[in-house]
Amino acid sequence: MLICSSLDEVKRRESALRFIANLLKGKERSSLYDLSGLAGGFPVKESDLPLLETYSGPAIFSTHLQEEGKKHLGGDKVAAFNRTSAAILATILALVKPGEEVLHYLPELPSHPAIPRSVKLQGATYRETDNLQDFKLTPKTSLVVITGSTMDHRVLPLEDFHRIINISQEQQVPVLVDDASGARIRTVIYQQPRALDMGADLVVTSTDKLMNGPRAGLMAGKTPLINIITEKAQQFGLEAQPPVIAGIVRALEDFTPQNLLNSLERRDHVYTLLLEVMGGVEKTPTGFMISAATLQKEITPEGEERSPRELATLMAMVLLKEHHLVTIPAVGMPGVSTTIRLDLSAADARRLDDSQIINAIRESLGRVKEIADDAETCLSILYE
Ligand SMILES: *Cc1c(COP(=O)(O)O)cnc(C)c1O
Repeated sequence: MLICSSLDEVKRRESALRFIANLLKGKERSSLYDLSGLAGGFPVKESDLPLLETYSGPAIFSTHLQEEGKKHLGGDKVAAFNRTSAAILATILALVKPGEEVLHYLPELPSHPAIPRSVKLQGATYRETDNLQDFKLTPKTSLVVITGSTMDHRVLPLEDFHRIINISQEQQVPVLVDDASGARIRTVIYQQPRALDMGADLVVTSTDKLMNGPRAGLMAGKTPLINIITEKAQQFGLEAQPPVIAGIVRALEDFTPQNLLNSLERRDHVYTLLLEVMGGVEKTPTGFMISAATLQKEITPEGEERSPRELATLMAMVLLKEHHLVTIPAVGMPGVSTTIRLDLSAADARRLDDSQIINAIRESLGRVKEIADDAETCLSILYE
């Protein structure tokens, strides 16, 4: 076994970050290509810097945040959190009592772990389903969560969205939409309405997903709900601080839906070429992905068994160390998704031409096939 525990995954992540630090030492940022779609941009202006203080910062940026945030998500009021996970936790702490139930509907399991973990912390019960037949509220249900677009960018069909919101409204149970990536994928690419415009009570999005902002959570909804969630967030230190709020505001100002639409055309072209390299590659809304299961079908080492996670992590580390392409299985935290996603809407994708991307995949796949049996080489690529 190459990856035995989350501790191993911590070591793998450190190895990836060390590699990136060495690569960038003395060099331009342009030697690295972050296609994770989670680049965590921070597009503040020079003139913003003196304002990043504890009190003057909020005075200035919180006003802008209300304007820009409502433009993006709709609703009456917005609030910013350290992460989307932090916004979810604050909401569950504020709206759900111990012993009550949270019911989660998503287009495809599994859920993002932030939701079940927060429910557990609050001592409430949790049910999740991706099947409409199983979506039944009980008298104990005090919050419904809908995931608009999953971590693998599977999008909830519009009819299902309306169904779930209607059922919840009939029973007067508030609905939170986890639109981490969905606030852009669903609206720009699938042309669905914004979650609040469909009648959801609350929506949260990640400002680093398909937009060039810091990793943070932006929530919008009705004022009284936002107020009690903000209060909880401030009690537990979950609210975003002024520098992050400044980054969110500037990223919202810069957000250009057309960039996402442009990446669609490019995706279709690259995808056709990639199919010749690897049959199992799949399209995503803004790029393509290679699942760990696909890799396992492509690569069958002669001797050692390699798990799907091991193969995906190896592939991601080869993409990083030999081609300088950053994908999530290389740099993500323990338990991270094993899907290798290349996001063509990422800012860095514009600096790569199609053949560079295709060659990187072809050569990395070849390399993983070649070394999968060789534990020593694998360990050095994963951890050194
Ligand atoms: C990314 C994501 C989150 C969590 O975002 P963090 O920034 O990691 O807190 C929650 N839900 C979904 C569906 C996501 O894709």
